[in-house]
Amino acid sequence: MNMILIGAQGSGKGTQAQALARELHLQPTASGDLLREAIASETPLGRAAKPYVERGDLVPDTLVVEMILDSIRSLNGAQGIILDGFPRNIAQAETLDARLLELGQAIDAVVYLDVPREQLLDRLNGRYICRAHGHVWNMKTHPPTVAGVCDYDGSDLYQRSDDQPDKIAHRLDIFFNETIHLLEYYGPQGKLIRVDGTGSIEDVHRAIRAGLDRLERLAPLKGALAPVPPQTVSLQEIAG
Ligand code: AMP
Repeated sequence: MNMILIGAQGSGKGTQAQALARELHLQPTASGDLLREAIASETPLGRAAKPYVERGDLVPDTLVVEMILDSIRSLNGAQGIILDGFPRNIAQAETLDARLLELGQAIDAVVYLDVPREQLLDRLNGRYICRAHGHVWNMKTHPPTVAGVCDYDGSDLYQRSDDQPDKIAHRLDIFFNETIHLLEYYGPQGKLIRVDGTGSIEDVHRAIRAGLDRLERLAPLKGALAPVPPQTVSLQEIAG
């Protein structure tokens, strides 16, 4: 099964993608993480993408699409892929569909995490990330026990350079003006699961799984859906 998580920055899609990837044996692929890695390693892609990422603009489709396709081609024993942050516009979605078709694959499910803009602003303004494993903390809504230190692995917390107020507003504008139109693309295909993303990590996760079960009843998804694990506390630790 191949699935996409659509959600604005701060909607919690990274956290949910990690959890779903583990349960459903899917390879998590976060375009933002891949781009940040490429920038840190100063690869040709990283050098080309850096000014766009720093401004909070979308990186040109041609660069991002090839990066994602490389990741899809190198599935390491996973039963499919879970895309987080890609596609970001309809052109990317169309290219993805065409290229997946060439590989004999398709997108089976698309989850939209719906969180109002005001709440996203609150989450992003206080967002800090752990340097070792990308656990996400929030100074207002989900603070670590010791300020500046990750509870899970003791590493220091940092704020992403594009999590500054002006860049946050710009990135959210792009999401609500451009990326949101993906709902019109995937909705009529019967693959879209809309989930209220304002609840707890566990509630959102359960709602996604219920949506996937509904889709499965309508048309069997490729690869079995594992049952929801009884203890969900570890979800808190899966953040990114
Ligand atoms: P994210 O971590 O998903 O918020 O992405 C961080 C930044 O990477 C974005 O603000 C864009 O500059 C770039 N980026 C990530 N995914 C894409 C994409 N699918 N298309 C274009 N740019 C992207």
